[in-house]
Amino acid sequence: MSARYLTSEQDAQLRRWERWNRNYFVFAFVALIVVLVFSSQLGLSSGDDWGSLGVLLALLVAPIVVLQLRLRCPACGVKIGWQAKLMAPDQCKSCGVFLRSKNSSS
Ligand SMILES: [Zn+2]
Repeated sequence: MSARYLTSEQDAQLRRWERWNRNYFVFAFVALIVVLVFSSQLGLSSGDDWGSLGVLLALLVAPIVVLQLRLRCPACGVKIGWQAKLMAPDQCKSCGVFLRSKNSSS
């Protein structure tokens, strides 16, 4: 049983996705807090009309879902987005490849 790793190129691809994913997550989190804090001032949650606030929240969350769906195993192409949370998983459950390059220190 020889452990398989990604090439450094595939690894770079994955790290790029992680960076995007993490950056957007932080952005969405901050935006979410700002929206919640200022929603009353902005008149978004005035009365029991939460419609516009709901749309705003959906708009913030949707790209996270898209990012998750876009992540594929570089080796076998199976979608691994749902195994990932903020970071890519250590190993592809489908083909067993380790989702990092052999030389990477992390
Ligand atoms: Zn795979």
